[in-house]
Amino acid sequence: MKLSKQFVIYCTFILTLIFATVSCFENPSDPGNENGEDEFSHTRNPGISANAFLSDSDFTELVIEIDYMPNYPPNERALDSLQAFLEQRLNKTSVTILEPTEIPSGDQNAYTANQVRDLESQHRDQFSEGETLTAYMIILDGRYSQSNVLGIAYYNTSNAFFGVAYDDATSGFGAPSRYQVESTSFRHEFGHLFGLVNIDGSGTDMQTDHQDEENGHHCDNENCLMYYAMERSDLISQFFDESVAELDANCIADLQANGGK
Ligand SMILES: [Zn+2]
Ligand SMILES: [Zn+2]
Repeated sequence: MKLSKQFVIYCTFILTLIFATVSCFENPSDPGNENGEDEFSHTRNPGISANAFLSDSDFTELVIEIDYMPNYPPNERALDSLQAFLEQRLNKTSVTILEPTEIPSGDQNAYTANQVRDLESQHRDQFSEGETLTAYMIILDGRYSQSNVLGIAYYNTSNAFFGVAYDDATSGFGAPSRYQVESTSFRHEFGHLFGLVNIDGSGTDMQTDHQDEENGHHCDNENCLMYYAMERSDLISQFFDESVAELDANCIADLQANGGK
C-alpha cells in the first residue's frame, strides 16, 4: 500500500510527541476475581478473558449489550460487520448483538476511563451466566480525556467508544464513512479483549514476534486491524473505498493458538 505523504508526516509527528501511545488500552487496578471462583467478574483487565471469548470451553454463546448517548446510536452496517467478525474468529454457537439502548447524556466534552467505568456500573444490565458470555459497549457523546482515540478497552468484557471522535474522523474531504470508522473501531477494541497484541495474562501469546512495542499492545503491520493508528481519529484517513481493515496472519495465528478460529 502506498502511504500518503500526509500520513507519514502525521506518524512521525505522533511518534515524536507521544512517547508511549498505549491509550486505547486502559488497565484498571485488577482486583482479581473477588466473587470467588464460580462467579465471572466483569471488572478485570482487558485481555484477561481472551480465552472465554475465543474458545468454547467455558462459554458457547456470546451476547453483546450496547448503550449509547443521545445522537450517537451505532451505525447498523458497522454492527453487522462486527457480528461477522466475531462469528469468524470466536468458537461460539451464537453471537447476538442486542438492540442498542439510549442512555442519558453525561454532559461532558471528554470522559475519563474511570467515568466510563462508573457509567457502566449504572447502566449495564447483562452479565455472563451459565454458557453465555456477555460483553458491553458504551458510546459516549464526547471525546476521551487522554487522547484522540476512537475507542478504549477498559475491562475484560467492556469497550467504550467516543462519538465526537467519530465525527472528527468522518468529516472533511476524502474522509472515510461512518460505517468504515465505526466498524474498524469496534473490531479493533474487541481485538484487545481477545488479548491482541501480546497482553500479559491473556493467554494470547505471540506465535511470531509482531508487537509494535513503541505503541503498546499493537501490531507492527500498518495494514492490520491491530495497527495502532486504526484507533486514532486523525490517522484513519489511510482508508480507501469502502474497505475495513482485517486482522493479518500474525494476529489470526495468535487468536487460534488461544482457542479462536
Ligand atoms: Zn488499540
Ligand atoms: Zn496484526
